[in-house]
This record gives sequence, C-alpha cells and structure tokens, in this order.
Amino acid sequence: MITLSKKEKEIIQNSIRDVHDFPKPGIVFKDITTLLNDAEAFGVTMNHLYQRYKDMGLDFIAGIDARGFIFGASLAQMLGIGFVPVRKKGKLPYTTISQKYSLEYGFDEIEIHIDAFREKKDAKVLLIDDLIATGGTANAAAELIEKAGAKCVEACFIIGLEFLEGIDKLKEKTDVYYLIGVN
Ligand code: AMP
Repeated sequence: MITLSKKEKEIIQNSIRDVHDFPKPGIVFKDITTLLNDAEAFGVTMNHLYQRYKDMGLDFIAGIDARGFIFGASLAQMLGIGFVPVRKKGKLPYTTISQKYSLEYGFDEIEIHIDAFREKKDAKVLLIDDLIATGGTANAAAELIEKAGAKCVEACFIIGLEFLEGIDKLKEKTDVYYLIGVN
C-alpha cells in the first residue's frame, strides 16, 4: 500500500492553516483553502490519492458538501470514474434519498439522488471529505451510500482529528484513511 513520504506529509501539513476560534470560541478550524492554492501541496495530495486508489476497482467517488466536492471530483476525473455529490438537504433537484444525523444541538440531513450510482448493484464507492471530526456527517453519508444499494469500501479524509471518537466509530462501518492526523 502506498504511503506518504515524510517530505510529502510536511508539504501537505505546512499548507493547512489553523484558524483559531472559528466558527466559535475554542475550535481550531483546519483551513484547506491554503492547501488548494498551493499548487505543490494540492498536487502532492491528489497524486497520493491517485496512487492509493488507482488499483482498487472503484466505481464511484462520493464527496461530502462542500469541500469533499473539490478533492472528490478531482480524484474521480483522475481515476476515470463518476462523481456523486452528497449534499445538504434541499439542494438536489431530482428525487433524493436522505439521512438525518445528530449534531451537538439538534439534527442535520444530507441527501443523494436516488439514481446516483446508476443502478449498478453493489457499486464500489469511496467516500471523501476534507476532515473527520465527530464522524457524524461521514457516518450518515456511508449510510446513504448503502441505502442507495452501493457499497462504501473506504472513507478518506485529508485530515483526521484523532482526539475525537469519530474515526473509531466510522471504522465500525467502513475502512477509514486519512493523510494528516491531528492529536
Ligand atoms: P463531523 O461530522 O463532526 O465529522 O464534521 C465534519 C465536517 O465538518 C466536515 O465536512 C468538515 O469540513 C467540518 N469540520 C468539522 N470540524 C472542523 C474543523 N476543526 N476544521 C475544519 N472543518 C471542520
């Protein structure tokens, strides 16, 4: 299995900006816009993902609204497979299936189109987002993929917050991979 070299990891790590107290006090927001506008860091990231997934026989990539779209759509194009957006409720125009999940306070809901995986039975899907925190969003997205009749073979993140329980919880449902661990 392909692993990131120390140098590659440093390039990616150094390109991510920590924004303290955003969106509320006490949160360190991992800002990946600085990774995206650093051509070397974005290139190292996408090339690594391509090398990791090119021989896995994936059928689709599902990206989580909104930063998962950027990495997911780029990777899908590199791999020559289709991309499926997992969107916040009310954004997709055609018939959808949806999944609720709990937040710190209340609920949120995500959706995919009912025909997102083109009726390919047991399609092998890679789920992708920029970051896993509590894992609530990714868990709901993995659930949606299964509801749509496909199989979530791995969930991939650029950043994994290891001090939360999200990664371990998600591992009960699917394999989990992330490039940069934060502890
Ligand atoms: P969760 O469902 O708690 O795993 O939250 C994951 C979603 O929230 C992802 O789509 C992330 O983009 C975003 N998110 C949560 N925490 C952070 C953070 N500290 N920095 C940047 N994005 C975050």
